[in-house]
Amino acid sequence: MTLGRALLCSLLLLLAGRAGAQPAAPATPPPALRLWRLDCGRLDENREKLWAWQRVPTPCPCYLVANNGRYLLWDAGISKRGLGNAHPVAKLDRTISDQLAQIGVKPEQIAFIGISHYHGDHTGQASQFPKAQLLIGAGDLAVLKSSPPPRGAAPPHIQPWLDGKAPVEALVEDHDVFGDGRVTILMTPGHTPGHSALLVKLATGPVILAGDLWFSHADALRGEMPDFNSSRAETLASRERVGRLAEKLDATVILQHEPADVGKLPAFPAAAE
Ligand SMILES: [Zn+2]
Repeated sequence: MTLGRALLCSLLLLLAGRAGAQPAAPATPPPALRLWRLDCGRLDENREKLWAWQRVPTPCPCYLVANNGRYLLWDAGISKRGLGNAHPVAKLDRTISDQLAQIGVKPEQIAFIGISHYHGDHTGQASQFPKAQLLIGAGDLAVLKSSPPPRGAAPPHIQPWLDGKAPVEALVEDHDVFGDGRVTILMTPGHTPGHSALLVKLATGPVILAGDLWFSHADALRGEMPDFNSSRAETLASRERVGRLAEKLDATVILQHEPADVGKLPAFPAAAE
């Protein structure tokens, strides 16, 4: 090879970015993981005697996670029956689809719906996303298939999956939703047989959405059980597990019905990253 040809080769390699002497390019950071808090209704009770756990009004948030262009909806809130003050207890100001439209997300873009547990205030609008894969504890799916369903369960909310018209994965252990270790469903049985929580490892710090493992900070302090609790022993074990994990990871724990925890995530349409 002549000197001129060698120089030309070197120049071409440089332009192509493949020259051996070039410093390694900095590693590309992973695409942002984002977490939105959606308003998915509230429980407003006018009776004189409230349930022991109940704060009035009780927020019923649900959450959207974006990971590299794919979306997980965590819980599905109050059903559309709650719109327009038609229902005495369950209230809904805006649908999930309406909020997704505000941030440019179409219902068919929701790849996964994770349901913390089978109670109707967590499943209400799931059927608006019938193309999504349902991720639910196997114990809770069995409850929703039982006849008659127990108090608090609303099988019609997940009818597309019960009918076999949409994909469902019944979870018996922790589940890595996107396969990259950043968003994990944690099996935390006790409130219901297949109750689960969601760990989201945001760049600003991990967040655990605890479902109804605790209803309130008072529950956590006094070791109280929520009403509609299927197993005290399992709930205590799951609380200990999540508590230890949160301590180890220095995670923010959000009790989904606790009004004091709502502000731990930014107000919609802002997202935590
Ligand atoms: Zn609930």
